[in-house]
Amino acid sequence: MEEIAKNVARVRAAMAEAARKAGRDPGEILLCAASKMNDSARVQAAVQAGVDCCGENRVQELMEKLPQGAYTGKPVHFIGHLQTNKVNKVVGNVALIQSVDREELLQAIEKAAAKLNIVQPILLEVNIGAEASKSGFTPEEAMVIASRMAEFPHCKLEGLMAIPPISEEPGGNSKYFAQMHQLLVDIRAKKYDNVSMACLSMGMTDDFTDAIANGSTMIRVGTAIFGARHYGNQ
Ligand SMILES: *Cc1c(COP(=O)(O)O)cnc(C)c1O
Repeated sequence: MEEIAKNVARVRAAMAEAARKAGRDPGEILLCAASKMNDSARVQAAVQAGVDCCGENRVQELMEKLPQGAYTGKPVHFIGHLQTNKVNKVVGNVALIQSVDREELLQAIEKAAAKLNIVQPILLEVNIGAEASKSGFTPEEAMVIASRMAEFPHCKLEGLMAIPPISEEPGGNSKYFAQMHQLLVDIRAKKYDNVSMACLSMGMTDDFTDAIANGSTMIRVGTAIFGARHYGNQ
């Protein structure tokens, strides 16, 4: 657990350095702990160490860790692929759904939020590398959805999220991060109803400094906080 606190401090220092180099205020960039496969005690250690929020990928893990108090003290976000039949478990239980990757999901979230009479903050996930293996809107589709957000009054579009391709070399994703930032700026300039575009969620363990250099306002970091995940042991 001490290790987690040290890791968070190390990530914070690297974030501040990247912000300073880019002439940005470190205070405008949030650190989201991507907590998949880490138990509640470890997630809570990251919260105590001062991350700004947690991001959970799987509905089952979210439902297990929520009542255990894993996130107590900080907001939790949903950042993974969300099946429409599990939307009811997530809407109202998380401060932000970052991974709205298709219109069908947006419609299901709207319906669930309307039923609860709440407004659910969301981000649109953009498949910025146009990878067949990843879900998400094209930039053009994201623009169209943003223009139609008045049709979804129980959702609030707060920005964009992206997971670019795995980079072959350092800095390899900078072009994708720059494209995401331009898309955010372009959508914001339209001043669509029910759209704020305050949040640009991009950058992970291997590339968050490049994401910060290109306008990220939230990085999602797993490995650099919790250590390597051991997928074999599930
Ligand atoms: C796991 C995950 C991260 C963090 O990845 P690391 O490389 O471990 O920092 C970020 N975003 C999403 C959506 C993830 O699933």
